[in-house]
Amino acid sequence: MENGAGAGAAAPAEAAAAWNFEPNVTLLGLTALSVRGVLGRVMAGMVVEDCGAGGRPAVPMGHGDPSAFPCFRTAEEAVDAVAAALRSGKHNSYAPCVGLKPTRRSIARYLSRDLPYELSADDVYLTSGCSQAIEIICSVLARPGANILCPRPCYLFHEARARFNGMEVKYFDLLPERGWEADLDEVQAIADKNTVAMLIINPGNPCGNVYTYEHLAKVAETAKKLGIFLIADEVYAHLTFGQNKFVPMGVFGSVAPVLTLGSISKRWVVPGWRLGWIVTSDPNGVFQRTKVVESIKCYLDISCDPVTFIQGAIPQLIENTKEEFFENTVDVLRQTADICWEKLKGISCITCPSKPEGSMFVMVKLDLSCLQGIKDDMDFCCKLANEELVVILPGCAVGYKNWLRITFALEPSSLEDGLDRLKSFCLRHSKPKLGQNVHSHPLSGRQTADVRCRPGEGGSELVHCVMHGLISSHCRLKLKTVQFQVANAPGSAVVAAIAISMNMISTKSVKDSESKIVLLN
Ligand SMILES: *Cc1c(COP(=O)(O)O)cnc(C)c1O
Repeated sequence: MENGAGAGAAAPAEAAAAWNFEPNVTLLGLTALSVRGVLGRVMAGMVVEDCGAGGRPAVPMGHGDPSAFPCFRTAEEAVDAVAAALRSGKHNSYAPCVGLKPTRRSIARYLSRDLPYELSADDVYLTSGCSQAIEIICSVLARPGANILCPRPCYLFHEARARFNGMEVKYFDLLPERGWEADLDEVQAIADKNTVAMLIINPGNPCGNVYTYEHLAKVAETAKKLGIFLIADEVYAHLTFGQNKFVPMGVFGSVAPVLTLGSISKRWVVPGWRLGWIVTSDPNGVFQRTKVVESIKCYLDISCDPVTFIQGAIPQLIENTKEEFFENTVDVLRQTADICWEKLKGISCITCPSKPEGSMFVMVKLDLSCLQGIKDDMDFCCKLANEELVVILPGCAVGYKNWLRITFALEPSSLEDGLDRLKSFCLRHSKPKLGQNVHSHPLSGRQTADVRCRPGEGGSELVHCVMHGLISSHCRLKLKTVQFQVANAPGSAVVAAIAISMNMISTKSVKDSESKIVLLN
């Protein structure tokens, strides 16, 4: 078969033309809006090291799921509640499509603690996590031409679901200089007759902001004026550790109707349990009259429910979880937010407009002008993952180009390690400042450095250096470009070379495997 390859290629193409199906092409563009999709691209080139063999662990500062860290382990009582629900044998059946009644009642009671009115079980619809709650809302709202107003930056799952349902998304800005408050003038300017709702994420993902009562009151007034309702994504409810305490949007439900979305994923640190809710925080019954409630029920009739035994566990889970568990989680978040804030201050190409006060994230601005060889936020994150095994979400994944979203919900030691590696990455890629003495940058003020060398595999020499105090993580560099000064370390036969002008540290020839070198000034 001489032309085998050609014939082989043609046959499937012909066959494909005869098939009557094709994929839904809308989906292909939507992974750019998903945290998981973008993180997949960031980590594509990352080679995981063998920690047992002295390799470094990867540091996951990209996604908000700290459940694997011991300091974020869920409450014992929550685990007991699930085990008991399972053992009872009462939760092996299908649940009603709106969810089990006692579960809806317990969530209504739990949320009513923070409201000026009492929710009833009928206000609560159980969903498979807050994600499905978003999915349902977007499906229910999607009529031809409808649009919703979303904050920028935003958790883009909302946009993905809205667009998938054929809705338009319009963005209003959050103002970093005002603690990421919504620009309500802009909201009024972009709303039109097809606008149905406005989204508020509080506490904020990706900004770590917590809104004041006063700001939320203004949001409600704006919605009322525009004749739209509010979608309040409160999946981080009560995860606050700054000045502002969490105030649910539902407090203003009598000003403008609110659909409150939440789940146990974040507060109980069990995103894998997949239990969330949609709640109509609407004491005036607007959603009844406008048939929004009816369409939510219709949607639930044709979709799948959260696992029944998790539903069955919720009343006990809510009732039995001790205050200490919540306090502990918030304490760890406060501590890690502090670490993050302090360490970021020491990285010159990154600016953090405000200290996070809630959720698990902070948004920081990348100053590309002081970096070399970095194209944009995506490029920064890909190279960071490759070189330092530190995973951070590029701002483009939250609609904010050339910013970064950093998760600080990690084990504190791991977070410190990750931020140190981020710093050493930034130093290594920063532009040399003109007229600067090669030795004064970046080692200004430091005189000594330990350099450890070992031959690498495949002929390329790998250098592990530990620059105490400055670059505390191990830099892994291929010895290619060598621009160096020879330094004869006193008291040692070692001839080491160091090239610091490009923030590159390398050695020319090393006779000892480990030595202390003195930098010439
Ligand atoms: C995590 C998250 C969700 C999804 O919550 P699940 O309960 O895990 O589905 C929704 N909104 C925001 C802002 C989130 O960060």
